[in-house]
This record gives sequence, C-alpha cells and structure tokens, in this order.
Amino acid sequence: MTNEVLKKVLEEKRAAKRREEAAAEARKAAALSLPDVSEAHREYVNALHESLRYGGQDRRRNAEKLRAAYVEALAEAGYSEEDFLPRVLCPLCNDTGISDGTLCKCTREALVRALGIACDISPEGFALSDFDPADVKGSQAQHLAKLYGRMSAYAEKFPDVNRNVIVCTGKTGTGKTMLATALARTLIRGGHSALVMSATAFNSLMLKCHTSPYSEREGILADVLTAELLVIDDLGTEPRYNNVTCEYLLLVLEERGSKHLSTVVTTNLSPERILQVYNERIYSRLFDKRRSLTLSFDGDDLRLV
Ligand SMILES: [Zn+2]
Repeated sequence: MTNEVLKKVLEEKRAAKRREEAAAEARKAAALSLPDVSEAHREYVNALHESLRYGGQDRRRNAEKLRAAYVEALAEAGYSEEDFLPRVLCPLCNDTGISDGTLCKCTREALVRALGIACDISPEGFALSDFDPADVKGSQAQHLAKLYGRMSAYAEKFPDVNRNVIVCTGKTGTGKTMLATALARTLIRGGHSALVMSATAFNSLMLKCHTSPYSEREGILADVLTAELLVIDDLGTEPRYNNVTCEYLLLVLEERGSKHLSTVVTTNLSPERILQVYNERIYSRLFDKRRSLTLSFDGDDLRLV
C-alpha cells in the first residue's frame, strides 16, 4: 500500500513539473505573439547569428544592443526572461522528488499527506509523543505511560520489529483505541501506511469480499493485506457471519504475518474468551509469544507478554 501511494506521489510530482514546463512555454508564446516583442526578438536573434557566424566587435556590440532592446520590449509588455523558465517548486530536488539518491523532503511531506488521505487518518492530531501522564486521572497514568513508552519504541524500530501482532486488552474506556490510533498516526507521520478499522467495518468488508465475484476480491482486500499497520478496533463487537467472520480474520492475520506486516487488535475480551468466541487458530495467532505482544490496559499490573 505504501509503495502504491508513493508511486502516485512521484507521478503527481512529475505531472506538476510537466505542468510548470508547459506554463513557461505558454508564457513565452504569449509574449512573442506581441508585435513589439516579436520584432525586437527577431532582430536580436538575427544579430546574434551574424555575430556568432562572422565575429567582430561591431557585430557583437550590435547583438548586445539589440538584446537590451529585446529585454526592454519584454519589460514594457510586463515580462522578464525568467518568466520563460519553468517555476521550480522545490529547489532541493529540482522537482524530481529525489535528492541525494533518496526521497526529497518535499516527497516525504507529500507522502505523509497522501498516506493520511489513503488511510483516512489525518497526520495531525494525537500521536504517541503527545501523551502526557498528567492528562490522565487516577492510578492509570503510570501504567499508560509505560504502554506509550513501549509503543514509541516500537514505532521507532518500525518496520524492523520482532513482534507483528499486538493485542490490546482491557475494559472499555481504558485507552486502547486511543493508543492504537496514536500508533497508526505516528507511523503515518513516519511515511508508513497504517489503517484503523472498527471490527464491524472490517467484518463488513470481509462479507463484501466473500459475496463479490472472484475477480473483485483481490481489490477489496488489497489495503487490509498490504497496509504496513492494520488496527482492528474492538474485536468481539462485530456481528458473526458464518464462513466469514472467523475465516477471513484468520486469513488476514496469516497473510499479514507471512509478509511481516503488523496488526494491532484491541478488544474487551479476555484471551480465554477469544478462544471460546473465535477458534484455536485465531487464538494462537493472537497470543503466540514469539510473534505477539499483549498489552493489558486494566489495573496496575503491567502485563507485557
Ligand atoms: Zn524536493
């Protein structure tokens, strides 16, 4: 997904560069269509050719004089020669999008904006670094500070992380969604694709996939299978569809796991309840200690498996 968005960003940069070149050509054509400018330009070009061809100081001076007359005619018509050069929007990369063999600052900024649109999360807003324990009432402040610290370290290492599954468990209102969304936003700011979906929206998308012709399924699943981070929020609140809910959740978890893409699941359900409600394969995908990290949001016991 990130590569697709980046490709579009670079294509847009090239298109913008071509638009600037065309606009410069158009300004030149408009200026040279004015009789005074056109005449002065013709005389200057002729004199320049003569000077270059036959040499001599007089011809050179004449060409210089006629050039000054041409520049003056341009100025009288409200133009300068610089108007005939394409405007350079980014001097760092000369609008190629690449500087010093890597993505230019302008491209990275455009990428973050485009990722925000593609992932439907504004890059502005609450990110991991905005967390302040002072904003949290009660005994949870210390606990949340540890969780945010842990996730900040995760985001810093991303995508070079060992655990690709993070399960945030805890009661409603303990801040699971906020942390997961802050992680997504932090990654988007770092130029990664990160989708946040409610379990209900995810489930509906899976149902849509299941009921669509085969030729359309890949397109429907593309984003959830390729986003660098996928957050499935509030697992357990979605309606249950036979042949869909469990089957597609497992498919997405396995497919993403095989590509080392990270998935965050937030849920009010305990691990034991997840085993009962879903199935053993989903349970082991979510709670495999080698691949997954469980963050408990309840109480003071910080359980980092
Ligand atoms: Zn640039």
